[in-house]
Amino acid sequence: MTLSMRFDNSYAALPEGFFVRQAPRPAGAPSLLAFNRRLAEDLGIAAPEDPGALAQVFSGNALPEGAAPLAMAYAGHQFGGFSPQLGDGRALLIGEVVAPDGSRWDLQLKGSGRTPFSRGGDGLAAMGPVLREYLVSEAMAALGVPTSRALAAVATGDPVMRETVLPGAVLTRVARSHLRVGTFEFFAARGDKARMRLLLDHAIARHDPDADSPQSFLRGVIARQAALVAQWMSLGFIHGVMNTDNCTISGDTIDYGPCAFMDRYHPATVFSSIDRQGRYAYDNQRHIIAWNMAQLASALLLLEDDPEAMVAPYTEEVNAMPALIGAEILRRFGQKIGLAAASETDRPMIEALLGLMQDQGADFTNTFRGLGDGTAADQFTDPAPFREWEAGWRARLSQEADPQALMARVNPVIIPRNHRVEEALAAALTGDMGPFERLHAALSDPFDPALKDSPYTRPPLPDEEVAATFCG
Ligand code: AMP
Ligand code: MG
Ligand code: MG
Repeated sequence: MTLSMRFDNSYAALPEGFFVRQAPRPAGAPSLLAFNRRLAEDLGIAAPEDPGALAQVFSGNALPEGAAPLAMAYAGHQFGGFSPQLGDGRALLIGEVVAPDGSRWDLQLKGSGRTPFSRGGDGLAAMGPVLREYLVSEAMAALGVPTSRALAAVATGDPVMRETVLPGAVLTRVARSHLRVGTFEFFAARGDKARMRLLLDHAIARHDPDADSPQSFLRGVIARQAALVAQWMSLGFIHGVMNTDNCTISGDTIDYGPCAFMDRYHPATVFSSIDRQGRYAYDNQRHIIAWNMAQLASALLLLEDDPEAMVAPYTEEVNAMPALIGAEILRRFGQKIGLAAASETDRPMIEALLGLMQDQGADFTNTFRGLGDGTAADQFTDPAPFREWEAGWRARLSQEADPQALMARVNPVIIPRNHRVEEALAAALTGDMGPFERLHAALSDPFDPALKDSPYTRPPLPDEEVAATFCG
């Protein structure tokens, strides 16, 4: 049986200038590392059982019928500096799958060889980062976060040269689209109004069928990104590289590189080894996303007949963002402490708890989960200030209908802790997929109360702590 799916490649139907057609680089000896059969079923993909056949398909060696592989063009602000040409340097869009429920999904191979956008890069991905993205993106999906998904990971059998020689791999990822802020910046930088219009129409058709102007489209992206970043923060997630080329129009999390979940709470937490200034630190994410939206706004101005007249209304859209994020943060953190509909008067209580957590380096995930389980005080070396906070909190909780159920629903028991992820990847590199599979399985239902005694709930010991994460 060969693999089959229903393709409808709308991006590939756009005219010249949006992409470059490119075949994947053949993999020498592909072998399947992981396959997401549940996701394949949801997408209406009829997949063979044979891992060898799956490895051929998801390495790019034997693309399914109807695939039209291409590298997408995009630009982007990386750490604040503009690059007018980035593009898929090591990824290929192989097509859009229409699922049985009618939803449309990009299928992308990552690590499948050089493209005209590769610049100095080799177009490849190493096995560690591929498995990292697989694990963390699937964990995010299970946590209920809008995100790209992982369909397959295949070891290519070919080496990748980094600081050392590493085994290569290809990730097949699935996303509602791979349109980014940087896609708009690409055409804006060229003053290409005609293609910008086509891009906007394409994006509106996929993500904002109700948008009737560039400004209303901007408003939609801002709303989705505000909700997304607040949700990341409510889980202690740090994306790590919020460059505008990694910032989607759909409002999904994409491009899992040096991302990480924090253990101890501190707003300035940074893991990414390349983020030396802390531009993308945990608490800075809410500011940077508004900066990114300002770049989208600037790009979209190209479409206005009188751009100057539209600067003020576009600026207003962007200026609304901090309040939108602030409201989402209040709502989500309110729920985390059991308040169904927190109001501004509750914000000091939330901030006081975070302040105590910061002072004592309390574990983010376990403290919030512990509020519902009665074990939060255990997360503090000196529980006295927490006990005092707790008394006020309990008084406030008495006004709530079912705070226990709410807290159990929004505070995960487990997250992909860095030391566990690294442990799983290290084992995979020795050929042992066991730790990866066990961690992946545990993360598939992260709110399950039965996980309470799981070893994955334990924060790292000092010698297990991961100081830095790296790009693939
Ligand atoms: P990223 O930091 O992964 O979002 O990538 C930023 C840009 O660098 C994108 O244009 C990527 O396609 C490109 N890139 C990253 N890694 C490689 C690589 N190994 N080979 C070629 N291009 C790459
Ligand atoms: Mg990227
Ligand atoms: Mg990346």
